[in-house]
Amino acid sequence: MVVLHRMATSISLFASSIPLSKPKFFPKPFIFLHSSPLDTFISGTRNSVNKTRVYKNNRKFCTISAVATDLTETSSNESKENIEIENNPVQKVVLPTNDSSEKLLRIRHTCAHVMAMAVQKLFPKAKVTIGPWIDNGFYYDFDMEPLTDRDLKRIKKEMDRIISRNLPLVREEIDRDEAQKRIMNINEPYKMEILEGIKEEPITIYHIGNEWWDLCAGPHVDTTGKINKKAIELESVAGAYWRGDEKRAMLQRIYGTAWETEEQLKAYLHFKEEAKRRDHRRIGQDLDLFSIQDDAGGGLVFWHPKGAIVRHIIEDLWKSLHIQRGYDLLYTPHVAKADLWKISGHLDFYKESMYDQMEVEDEQYQLRPMNCPYHILVYKRTRHSYREFPIRVAELGTVYRYELSGSLHGLFRVRGFTQDDAHIFCLEDQIKDEIRGVLDLTEEILLRFGFDKYEVNLSTRPEKSVGGDDVWEKATAALKDALDRKGWDYQIDEGGGAFYGPKIDLKIEDALGRNWQCSTVQASYLLLVFMTIQNFYFNLPERFDITYVDSNSEKQRPIMIHRAVLGSLERFFGVLIEHYAGDFPLWLSPIQARLLPVTDTQLEYCNEVVKRLKSSNIRAEVCHGERLPKLIRNAEKQKIPLMAVVGPKEVETQSLTVRSRFAGELGNMSIDDFMTRIMSFSDDKKF
Ligand SMILES: [Zn+2]
Ligand SMILES: [Zn+2]
Repeated sequence: MVVLHRMATSISLFASSIPLSKPKFFPKPFIFLHSSPLDTFISGTRNSVNKTRVYKNNRKFCTISAVATDLTETSSNESKENIEIENNPVQKVVLPTNDSSEKLLRIRHTCAHVMAMAVQKLFPKAKVTIGPWIDNGFYYDFDMEPLTDRDLKRIKKEMDRIISRNLPLVREEIDRDEAQKRIMNINEPYKMEILEGIKEEPITIYHIGNEWWDLCAGPHVDTTGKINKKAIELESVAGAYWRGDEKRAMLQRIYGTAWETEEQLKAYLHFKEEAKRRDHRRIGQDLDLFSIQDDAGGGLVFWHPKGAIVRHIIEDLWKSLHIQRGYDLLYTPHVAKADLWKISGHLDFYKESMYDQMEVEDEQYQLRPMNCPYHILVYKRTRHSYREFPIRVAELGTVYRYELSGSLHGLFRVRGFTQDDAHIFCLEDQIKDEIRGVLDLTEEILLRFGFDKYEVNLSTRPEKSVGGDDVWEKATAALKDALDRKGWDYQIDEGGGAFYGPKIDLKIEDALGRNWQCSTVQASYLLLVFMTIQNFYFNLPERFDITYVDSNSEKQRPIMIHRAVLGSLERFFGVLIEHYAGDFPLWLSPIQARLLPVTDTQLEYCNEVVKRLKSSNIRAEVCHGERLPKLIRNAEKQKIPLMAVVGPKEVETQSLTVRSRFAGELGNMSIDDFMTRIMSFSDDKKF
């Protein structure tokens, strides 16, 4: 309900200015389709940094970009299906967006009116409200009886009729009195309220033929016939409060999707289906990776054994790469005295994302929303000389941030999460190299997981900010320089930085071609910016009065760089699940091999083999007690990369008959061979 409430809030914002135009923001992710084929990822093409669009102001969307592929229908053999999807992108359609095609935007806007006209024809008592275009189509809110899927079909049929009649859309300008009179005549109370919110005159209305009209500022197509009825579909109906106010009427919101051509609609529907198949919440449950439980509370993640082992592998890799790159690891507490958060400024600037304080022996304590102050406290424990710099400290630090329950979403939006955080204390002339080092490390880590396409944004100084001009200029120039030297394309988001510093953020593109980026819409940008943040948190070194001694034995303030590569482990895991569709590569798979005894006579042998595999750090298990075909099917369903069938022959020859989920039958091999193969694939980090 809260989601609906929030969505409706955003709508009421716009309704008070211009009716029937694009809402200011969408709190939930909308699919935004534009480019980048699936096969580029599969063939492993590198260095293609994907540019999409410049973000202005703070209006940022959760965007997903994609190219749809012609997916074969779900077959009983899931692994075969996957291979087909990945190797045969039969149909590639680059989908336009509202930004890239004005025609499409006009179609979507017109569709909203056509739908409203159709609804009022079928349900004369329905009252109209507002109906903007959105990323994949449009919606319209009606005050009426609850609708069913069958109603949607009837409405679509009626829309088709209106489209076929090729009715003209005619603009008319009228004054306020006239508008009031006309609205009174048709008895539309919501429209009257919208009219009150419109400050400018004249008032524009649009007629469809001479049968129906709506308050609107446009733009539309000239005639309803310009809409391709085979390129639109009504998707769903949901409840939404008028003006986002739960004390006001609950409306019926019909969502529709609209495209220029039938091919585009098909491609979009394919993409949507595939995204559903990959939904990490569903896969997380099917593969028993994690849970979020009502008994414990929303947004708090339980990592089950199979999810926890994946996290362990990610953490191990992360730690060893950081140690190799000259970082020191830290572990720090999850709570601290509230005073610490006063000094850091979090209680001034960040309070809405923090939980209430708790009392411990007459002192106030606070769950941490960020790790930075703790790393500073460690830094402050000793005197530092310029000779020690750069000092790099890293922590997989768990933080807690307040999120409204309605905005929580699987692993993507949670209340407690572990950031892969690090801080670099350095001298001014070391900034460039340090940033470059972070970019290199980011690339190295992401490539391990097969992410080789990024969208990079550099956000500059916002209007409200702290720190002097010269520091901002230097910091921004250093970030730019590092990106230029790295050779990555990037876009500049003017004024999009945090109040305490400029930042680079990087979005990765997954196997579906979706860009994972999130927005500053609600609160903490740190929670939502996904890949890399490097900002100069100018404030903190001053607030905590941290210093070093320079070559003249004088005290100076060090530069502090903040960065995260994966963002949060929870979120990254969610992205990985969807990226691989649960089919983790061998090196990352929770269970690498499952042994299947033909009868229980082979069970003892299987247990011995598993023991041996485990002692070599191979993640293996035995499954028995069912007939072999069932065991094989279960292993397929659990997406286990390797299966070893063990019958009397295998026991006699001390061998295994191996079947790979990706490569098919691998034949009979000795246990040593099997182990060597798994380990060599593991070393390669690819399978
Ligand atoms: Zn309109
Ligand atoms: Zn920090």
